Amino acid sequence: MEASTELVQEIVAKIMKEMSKTESVAEKKCDCSGGCKGNGSCKNNEDYIFSDVDSAVAAAKQAYKELKKLSIKERENIIHKIREKCLTYAERLSVMAVDETGMGRVEDKITKHLLVAEKTPGTEDLTTTAWSGDGGLTLVEQGPFGVIAAITPSTNPTATVFCNSIGMIAAGNSVVFAPHPGAKECTKFAVKLVNEASIEAGGPKNIVVTFDKPSIEITSALMNHKDIPFISATGGPGVVKQACSSGKRAIGAGAGNPPVIVDETADIKAAARDIIDGATFDNNLPCIAEKEIVAVEEICDELVEEMQKNGAYLLEDPELIKKLVNTVLIRKGDKVTLNRKFVGRDAKVILDAIGVYAEDSVRCIIFKGCKKHLLIVEELMMPILGIVTVKDFEEAVEVAVELEHGNRHSAHMHSKNIDRLTYFAREVDTAIFVKNAPSYSALGVGAEGYPTFTIASKTGEGLSSAKTFTKARRCVLKDSLSIK
Ligand code: NAD
Repeated sequence: MEASTELVQEIVAKIMKEMSKTESVAEKKCDCSGGCKGNGSCKNNEDYIFSDVDSAVAAAKQAYKELKKLSIKERENIIHKIREKCLTYAERLSVMAVDETGMGRVEDKITKHLLVAEKTPGTEDLTTTAWSGDGGLTLVEQGPFGVIAAITPSTNPTATVFCNSIGMIAAGNSVVFAPHPGAKECTKFAVKLVNEASIEAGGPKNIVVTFDKPSIEITSALMNHKDIPFISATGGPGVVKQACSSGKRAIGAGAGNPPVIVDETADIKAAARDIIDGATFDNNLPCIAEKEIVAVEEICDELVEEMQKNGAYLLEDPELIKKLVNTVLIRKGDKVTLNRKFVGRDAKVILDAIGVYAEDSVRCIIFKGCKKHLLIVEELMMPILGIVTVKDFEEAVEVAVELEHGNRHSAHMHSKNIDRLTYFAREVDTAIFVKNAPSYSALGVGAEGYPTFTIASKTGEGLSSAKTFTKARRCVLKDSLSIK
């Protein structure tokens, strides 16, 4: 059968039209919701990962607009999916974080993800305050800020992304994550999972976004971006200072150096076990973990003996202690910094580095030192615990307060004397104070309360949750709706 000229022309025209469509798709270099209008100038080849601050914030802003249209129930559905992802991928995220950063322990990071998935508060954390009477009804509700800049630490990268995402999204915000450059790959994966959760639950894409190549410059530019009204800074003193001086609403979850006091009334066996458990969790990376012990003279030797039974290695030779200082710290003039090679590493690896052979069962290095000892004064984030011996409880409080450095972060105590526990809690004035338990009890592990890995020590919000990421909004209806 021969095709008519008209039919051939019709087919050719159709093919040409299809080809021109294909061409225009090929020309479209980018499908992001950022600022490049599809021409690829932003070089964003994937949603949720951006190379520049403007595109990242624009994409998150678009997601925020879409999130605002959803009901609380729909918002909660997204949170539910995020929890599922966190549970399902807990092991993979933990392995990735340890592999990439070289810090911490996989099994403890898994515990953190499970804790986040199961116990981080969602939308139920948001409350309403009401006054009603002859003048009508007045409500104060907790509303979102918009796009939050969340700066996250290398020591706990992925669990922080999930915990922040749950709280910040539950409060109605979208998030731009600025991770530590040393934890960018595992952070990207965590951000991808949160986006998948949102999309699967019918929520917006780019509900959380991050950067392809994060850097201090990007983080600084993000904090100063005009469309960022709220900064959540989880990290060391540098980033907290910068966030707090941004002129924006900021929470500063900064460094700690938590002392733990043990007095002569304590159950010494339990104290030793709890301190070693708390101080070795994720190899002492958590900012809340016991970082040095202040022990009353009378019970000090017994405490050391009990800690040895729980996997502590007692370093006594002054030359080896000096070697330990020179191994885990780097001194440049007056400045002391941590040797990152040993942050969050196993006690055995650290002992190896100073030429001490130890059994695999060793979990922590302990030594006796004065309150000015560098390994006691510095926030090490390594399983190394210095012990300062004091004559009595009064001196213990004085020394512990000094060692906390006014961070107002965390402090712990083992004692059976309620008056003393109360006294130290008041004197040290920290966001977290754990009595007769491992430090991680503060995060609801084996104790009451919810977890978070953003503890706003500097700015006073304490353990953050959804309500931390809201602003108060008063709504007034005059003369009506009071049915008292
Ligand atoms: P870090 O301060 O080196 O980095 C934290 C984050 O801040 C990273 O994203 C990093 O890129 C960024 N950053 C650092 N300096 C900056 C600057 N000058 N300008 C802009 N951005 C900057 O800390 P880290 O080693 O990743 O994490 C460990 C520290 O974080 C410890 O001090 C620990 O106590 C603290 N921390 C606190 C909490 C808390 O809830 N309070 C939780 C986890 C960790």
